[in-house]
Amino acid sequence: MHPDVIVVGGGLMGCSVAYRLAKDGARVLVLERSIPGAEASSAAAGILGPTVESFGDALALQLGRRSRELHAELADELDELFGVDVGFRRCGVAKLAFTEEELAELDGQASALEVHGVRCDRWSPEELKHEEPAANPEAIGALSISEDAQVEPKKLLSAVALGAEREGTTFRSGSTVRAVTVEGGRVRGLQLGDEVIEAERVVVAAGSWTTLIPGLPFDSETIYPVRGQMIAAHTRPPIFRRIVFGAGGYVVTRPDGRVLCGSTMERVGFERGITFGGMADVINKATRIAPALRTAAIEEHWSSFRPGTPDGLPLVGETRVEGLFLASGHYRNGILLAPVTAELVSDAMAGRPVSREAQALSPHRFEEQAP
Ligand SMILES: Cc1cc2nc3c(=O)[nH]c(=O)nc-3n(C[C@H](O)[C@H](O)[C@H](O)COP(=O)(O)OP(=O)(O)OC[C@H]3O[C@@H](n4cnc5c(N)ncnc54)[C@H](O)[C@@H]3O)c2cc1C
Repeated sequence: MHPDVIVVGGGLMGCSVAYRLAKDGARVLVLERSIPGAEASSAAAGILGPTVESFGDALALQLGRRSRELHAELADELDELFGVDVGFRRCGVAKLAFTEEELAELDGQASALEVHGVRCDRWSPEELKHEEPAANPEAIGALSISEDAQVEPKKLLSAVALGAEREGTTFRSGSTVRAVTVEGGRVRGLQLGDEVIEAERVVVAAGSWTTLIPGLPFDSETIYPVRGQMIAAHTRPPIFRRIVFGAGGYVVTRPDGRVLCGSTMERVGFERGITFGGMADVINKATRIAPALRTAAIEEHWSSFRPGTPDGLPLVGETRVEGLFLASGHYRNGILLAPVTAELVSDAMAGRPVSREAQALSPHRFEEQAP
């Protein structure tokens, strides 16, 4: 089959774009050098937290809230189609303050969010104790936001890939794209070793590796890796009801008692692995949030690479090379932003009017001029 669109990368971004485009009627081929979900998308905590992640930025908040609601719809759709529960839960988040300065900061964040209609509850230590008894009693207050949610990234990725496949998408695992070929200002194809595949439309969704692919009109370091180390444990009963942030870290609790603690933010290139320093950092943050975790057994630890960008926003949409699109650079929020990214790529491909958000994410802002 001759595909209408080739997607490079089978992370959540590539799979979500493929699913969406296939539903639009396109014949899609996904090229993945390893297996779908091999990298960051399976390492993520699954926090869908636009209110805590937008840091008061109106655009990031708006995009994130829209995407979180698309997640809710997607979760229902995948449940209905395949009977898969992807773990979407509107569990809410709580942020702890340990100093007067942090408390004032939380108050400022709450005021900035309230302007946008986000409901924020400011808790006293007594209220915190009542709502989340396992939170550190040294916290002098907390901010609670009930609209944020979580999802289980691995389950989501499998279900979205399944959805894409059912809509006719072909996945080729073990296919490393070595270069994008461009002629006369438009994309012509992809090189995989000796093989050349012709393509009129290409979406590059290769996460932290995106701008390393030769032929793209970007400096190779435009998208760069930021390593994050994580730890998982189990507590019975589940330690928290909400996702709890504090001391620069977070604790995510699944309904079965699994606890995910994160994370580090390290610029160490593509060096894989976990370190003593990284683990110490994650453990210190997690036990500051929930002292009871001191006695929990560590079940798993891992690390992966967030695709960072110079301005913290992803690169989504068509480049100046006709037919060449990007869906990458989602940094700490790629799970959250996957559905809205798929929607924006679909809009761009269909030539639908470009919204203000889409303009702000345009890859043009980092694009090199054609020689
Ligand atoms: C520790 C950690 C915790 C996180 N927690 C959260 C969270 O709670 N919430 C949230 O929203 N986000 C979170 N993130 C961020 C999120 O995981 C990423 O932003 C998101 O997964 C990026 O998805 P992606 O598909 O772009 O990249 P990836 O999942 O990295 O996928 C890229 C794919 O492209 C493939 N590829 C690369 N180069 C090529 C090539 N040349 N040819 C073919 N295939 C190629 C790779 O093999 C890979 O499968 C976290 C990240 C980390 C590391």
